[in-house]
Amino acid sequence: MTTMSRRAFALSLPAATLAGAALVGGAVEWPRAAAARTGAAVGAVLPLAQVEIGRFTVTILSDGWADMPFNYFPGRTPEQIEAAAATQFAARPEGVRIVFTQYLIDDGERRILVDSGPAGAIGDTGRLPSALAAIGVTPESIDAAIVTHMHVDHMRGLVAGGRRVLPNAELYVDRRDVAHWTDPAKRAAAPDFLHSSFDTAADLVRLYPDLQATDGEREIARGISLVDLTGHTPGQIGVRVEDDGRSLLMVSDMMFHPSLHPVADDIGFIFEQDPAAAQAMRARFFPRAAEEGALIAATHMPFPGLGRIVRDGGALRWLPAEWAFQS
Ligand SMILES: [Zn+2]
Repeated sequence: MTTMSRRAFALSLPAATLAGAALVGGAVEWPRAAAARTGAAVGAVLPLAQVEIGRFTVTILSDGWADMPFNYFPGRTPEQIEAAAATQFAARPEGVRIVFTQYLIDDGERRILVDSGPAGAIGDTGRLPSALAAIGVTPESIDAAIVTHMHVDHMRGLVAGGRRVLPNAELYVDRRDVAHWTDPAKRAAAPDFLHSSFDTAADLVRLYPDLQATDGEREIARGISLVDLTGHTPGQIGVRVEDDGRSLLMVSDMMFHPSLHPVADDIGFIFEQDPAAAQAMRARFFPRAAEEGALIAATHMPFPGLGRIVRDGGALRWLPAEWAFQS
């Protein structure tokens, strides 16, 4: 592992303490209903949420978390970012605490994994394999995977240990991201902290030679569509699951923390190579999502990262969804 150093995301508390703190904070729900559904025993500290969208069950899991330094958010000074995070008790000594969330879509016949976490490359991560095992899902049983964009924290779990982690999965990645992240000239021009994403992208195309480079918006299975969210990376995509009049839109890195987004669209993230394009997409997407009242799942928002963008006076804000296990 190279550039996104563990030092930068140093673990400041023992894991057990943090798990306890998370439970006290109410951010984590005990997965009893899900355990009953799958008949599997689930570890006591495993965060898990499920939503039913028509015939689909979407299970939300987390590979872990990291504290993002306050100077990783261009558009404001580090002091302003810290002050904004502090209003929501999210200013930690090392930065803004964010989670890494993944989604397992199950329509009763096929299992599709959306993103796969940093798998230990960043912060305190690497929990996705045990989370999947705890709900009885083997890597072999996953039929497809979607990489929403080729930053290391969304795809390293697919190639951890230098091997193809999902042997039977069809893999979908947007063509623009494949082109960008496998281009040696782009790698050479990029800052060091992006090299781990270029290197992981190289692993991904090598280990999944059957990878499908998708082109824009399309339905990849009945009720599952890719949505163009270009900006954060050239080929960032969202995933919309739709059935029976309900829908869920997984929006990847459109938002990082509710103290920053959607209240502002001009706060960026240091890993965005085209800040203007990233901001333009946020400026388009946030008000549109508020108008639609769309149920959204966002990778880095506080677990499970399910909610809506709503208008509150003149401002936009994040309204966490009230979610419940459903049969
Ligand atoms: Zn991300």
